[in-house]
Amino acid sequence: MGVKHFCVDDPESFDLSTIDPRDTAGGPSSKEEALEKAEAMHERLADLQEVLYAENKQKVLIVLQGMDTSGKDGAVRHVMSGISPASVRVVSFKKPTEPELWHDYLWRIHPHVPGNGEIVIFNRSHYEDVLVVRVHELVPKDVWKKRYQQINDFERMLAENGVTILKFFLHISREEQAERLQARLDDPTKRWKFQHGDLEERKLWNEYREAYQDAVRKTSTKWAPWYIVPSDRKWFRNHVVAATIIDTLEKLDCKYPQPDLSGEQVE
Ligand code: AMP
Ligand code: MG
Repeated sequence: MGVKHFCVDDPESFDLSTIDPRDTAGGPSSKEEALEKAEAMHERLADLQEVLYAENKQKVLIVLQGMDTSGKDGAVRHVMSGISPASVRVVSFKKPTEPELWHDYLWRIHPHVPGNGEIVIFNRSHYEDVLVVRVHELVPKDVWKKRYQQINDFERMLAENGVTILKFFLHISREEQAERLQARLDDPTKRWKFQHGDLEERKLWNEYREAYQDAVRKTSTKWAPWYIVPSDRKWFRNHVVAATIIDTLEKLDCKYPQPDLSGEQVE
């Protein structure tokens, strides 16, 4: 299976409505098939992460975005299972605090980018500043519309300094979101995830969709591509995210350091 299938390589003509959130092209066609492959993929991911850590030269930034209930937490859980927590960090970006709002919007982001040998997963990110901020007009249009270019510049700077960036948009349908929100209301083990305001946000579905489409169009770059992941089916979403990370890490071709230990002897 080619993960290229999900990569946005012609951003200007990107049209979200052409992508079916239940599509399984380019990946497993059943849950059974996805689960069968999952264990080997987790092992592969753990091996690749270990050599990245040992080599201690390259850095990987993974951005997860998507509507409420699209499965950002679920994807993190899946990717993290089997990986040593020593060199992987997950950073969740919530509503900015007062001090964060006193600064430019990238100020709170930059300290969390990965260092040598690290993988960092952003659960939400600087993209919120052209998504929720745009939809709710938290800043004027002439402020947010400059941010696409600023984000591209920021990400290019990171890439030029050794950060490999991959960005996932977890694409769910409006119907699937209805089901998942209902489950959060009905299921006592999911109720804690329901947030005051989720239903109000849902009313702005079309506005968010437009904001996402624009963000993907304007910020899909060679140095920081977007992957659009059909996410109505959790097993498909998890598979594609893991497969794309594996593919990216394989291309980095990390090597275990081979220090010269001649003369060292275990007594
Ligand atoms: P959750 O991911 O469900 O924990 O919710 C986090 C909330 O923080 C979401 O409603 C986001 O829209 C919000 N959020 C994240 N970043 C920003 C931002 N830069 N400005 C405003 N709200 C934000
Ligand atoms: Mg939420």
